[in-house]
Amino acid sequence: MGTDKISANEIKAKNRQNIYQYIRERGSVSKQEIVVDMQLSLPTVTANLDYLKKQGLIDTSGKIKHTGGRNATAFSYIKNARTAIGVDITANHITAVAVDLSGEIVSMERRRIQFNLEDDLYLREIGEVVECVKRDAQIADTNLLGVGISVQSLISNDGEYIEYGKALNFTRRRREEIAAYVPYRSRLVHDSYAAGYRETWTNHKFQNAFYISLSNSVGGSVIIDDAIYEGNTHKGGEIGHLEVVSEGGELCYCGRRGCFDTVCRAGKLTDYTEGSLEEFFHLLENGDETARSLWNTYLDHLSRAIHNVRMLFDGMVILGGYVGAYMGKYLDDIYRRVDERNPFGDRAKDYLVECQYKVEASAAGAALFYIDEFLENI
Ligand SMILES: [Zn+2]
Repeated sequence: MGTDKISANEIKAKNRQNIYQYIRERGSVSKQEIVVDMQLSLPTVTANLDYLKKQGLIDTSGKIKHTGGRNATAFSYIKNARTAIGVDITANHITAVAVDLSGEIVSMERRRIQFNLEDDLYLREIGEVVECVKRDAQIADTNLLGVGISVQSLISNDGEYIEYGKALNFTRRRREEIAAYVPYRSRLVHDSYAAGYRETWTNHKFQNAFYISLSNSVGGSVIIDDAIYEGNTHKGGEIGHLEVVSEGGELCYCGRRGCFDTVCRAGKLTDYTEGSLEEFFHLLENGDETARSLWNTYLDHLSRAIHNVRMLFDGMVILGGYVGAYMGKYLDDIYRRVDERNPFGDRAKDYLVECQYKVEASAAGAALFYIDEFLENI
């Protein structure tokens, strides 16, 4: 049994985190406001503000204007005091972003290149894309928190190796191989978890949510109380392998038949347009019969999955991934299909949304791992 007593050091650390968090939320505050609002002593607040300033995390150059009397020093937080980088590796692209302490993307680079861990040039390209956003965002080595690498696979607990990576056939490959040319702290992150986390990190109405990633493969993540629920063995949310076609289903990359992945991966649409999702939606908009029929079948499967997710979790449902990024126009149609299935009368328009972050979601989410780590240990 642990003891309930919190040590003096823990209280000190908690006060520091709370004061920093308070300044982050408010943007700019006076010392007096912190003392009054947080009910802390003046010496405690002063000591912590001195510490935060020394760390280069807050700025004291501004003034808060008072009517009458002296203007007080404004304590404001410096968003780019630290930065994290996230990289997303997919079959045909490497995307990297630099993310500041507010979660904002301050630099982005996306290159089209075929995934191939056997090719040294490919590994060098990963390193170069990282250097590119680091240079562009002018991040000093000392201010770089780390590099999160999002991959299309299940990841070991310590972020060190690929536990299951059949989509790109790289099971058991290790972080140090993938990040051979990334000379900074790094870790691997499951792409669907990263993308889902990206959505909820900046939007707290997603406190409880399920993120469905509709890309070249289908993934998902469960978000409970603003945190990713990974399950007992880091497979929580693997909606892609729900068995949805009972007989004669198409073969899934996992080796089984009838998985949700086989009916809602992006390829179900883009096989018709030589891999181009843009072209698919262009044809759909222009009344192409085949595109319309494919889309109709796709939405039928998708709406069933959304309904099932809602029945299980009763939270928000976010449509993400490549296809999710095109959903805006078609939401009314999806709402109708989902509502027809709902026995309780709750309306899909109240819980179903398209993702806010499009191609960069997984990369940015992977970077947030390091932003969180920093904020928790300030
Ligand atoms: Zn499967």
